[in-house]
Amino acid sequence: MEDKTLCPLCGEGHMTPRTESMQTEYRDKLGAVTLRYAECDACGSEITGDADGRANKRVVLAFRKSVDGLLAGAEIRALREKFGITQEQAARLFGGGPKAFSKYEADDVAPSEAMNTLLCLVRRSEDAFWELLALKEMTAELPARRVAKHRTMDVPVIRIELTIRHEVAPDMLPAHTIPYRVPLDTMNMVKH
Ligand SMILES: [Zn+2]
Repeated sequence: MEDKTLCPLCGEGHMTPRTESMQTEYRDKLGAVTLRYAECDACGSEITGDADGRANKRVVLAFRKSVDGLLAGAEIRALREKFGITQEQAARLFGGGPKAFSKYEADDVAPSEAMNTLLCLVRRSEDAFWELLALKEMTAELPARRVAKHRTMDVPVIRIELTIRHEVAPDMLPAHTIPYRVPLDTMNMVKH
């Protein structure tokens, strides 16, 4: 068992980690978030330590992101991993500074609306990712396998011309309606 932290207030009890579901409001939207704190088993003090505070800030920010329609940290991470690029490469590709993606992905910081739009575009269109990579002259940085895989899809367009000549013999013009009667036994077969 790990040693529990001594209570900083009474100095006698030990702190037990607790969680509590709380309602939070953002832009007229209510959401439930699970917040962390610790409780002293002697004096009953409830304390939110540094680590708890950071975790709580993240869950609140994650809720706000969802209200704002911004990508969640996990979604940004999944997008980056889909293309097999590092956080540092993602920052050079999309902008935002060297620590941007570690902060986005941990829900420490919300991406700007412009950043979010760019990420959504790339998530929607794989071609947009490759175009952006070329624009930033970073194509050579990705493993050749991934780039080659893309290039095979980049086949040149072949133009196909098709001419259809429709000839109608004079004696085939214009046909009157030909009555057609379904044989009775066939009808019965269809009806079962
Ligand atoms: Zn205490």
